[in-house]
Amino acid sequence: MTATHPRNSQPLAQYRQAMVRNQLADRDIIDPAVLAVMGRIPRERFVPDALWESAYDDSPLPIGHQQTISQPYIVALSTQLLRPRHTDRGLDIGTGSGYQAAVLAELIEHVDSVELVAPLAKQAADRLERLGYKNISVHHGDGYQGWPEHAPYDVIIVAAAAPEIPRSLIDQLAIGGRLVIPVQRGHSQQQLLLIEKEPDGSLSTSEVAPVSFVPLVSPPPESS
Ligand code: SAH
Repeated sequence: MTATHPRNSQPLAQYRQAMVRNQLADRDIIDPAVLAVMGRIPRERFVPDALWESAYDDSPLPIGHQQTISQPYIVALSTQLLRPRHTDRGLDIGTGSGYQAAVLAELIEHVDSVELVAPLAKQAADRLERLGYKNISVHHGDGYQGWPEHAPYDVIIVAAAAPEIPRSLIDQLAIGGRLVIPVQRGHSQQQLLLIEKEPDGSLSTSEVAPVSFVPLVSPPPESS
């Protein structure tokens, strides 16, 4: 009998379907494309080897460098809020494991993903390449600056909480674009916001849910 690599094990496919049903569809994830994509992407490939059995748990998981891969429900909710369309170009701030970038990349044309921690950016870029994603560009950089070269973006998603919405992200949002970002409210409270840029350039903001993300870190100023 040949040993089955844990990553090929049958239970994982079942855990994935159970995750989609119990954590997403039974809550308020109704976008069929989001449900289909999350039912397909092997989340176990985005978590550290030692945690493969937990890949479909209803929680965030550590990925090293004091960072986490977000809880599946939060990825699904954020993606659904973006109302992704095939022709959209997207910006993902806080690449982390690359899982959110992968989910988005299956729904839109192209994703630029920016990560502050260099080894995480490298790992995610390698992982996404191995998995065959051709429409994701991972960049090592500061998400507070967005990615001006390729702006404007139809959808922008941020996976770390900032005290305020970074101005550059608003500037890089296209007319009609959607931005989903957690903002810090006081010491221990965060709110997930959906911001839409109206045809006249004004913003409409809705508060979606209380959430708990790692902080969007300000990088140290460059030494001169
Ligand atoms: N989307 C990720 C979740 C990662 S957690 C996933 O699917 O796995 C948030 C990430 O934001 C961490 O990797 C952290 O290093 C990164 N981060 C924090 N501050 C940042 C900044 N200023 N610019 C870019 N990335 C940042």
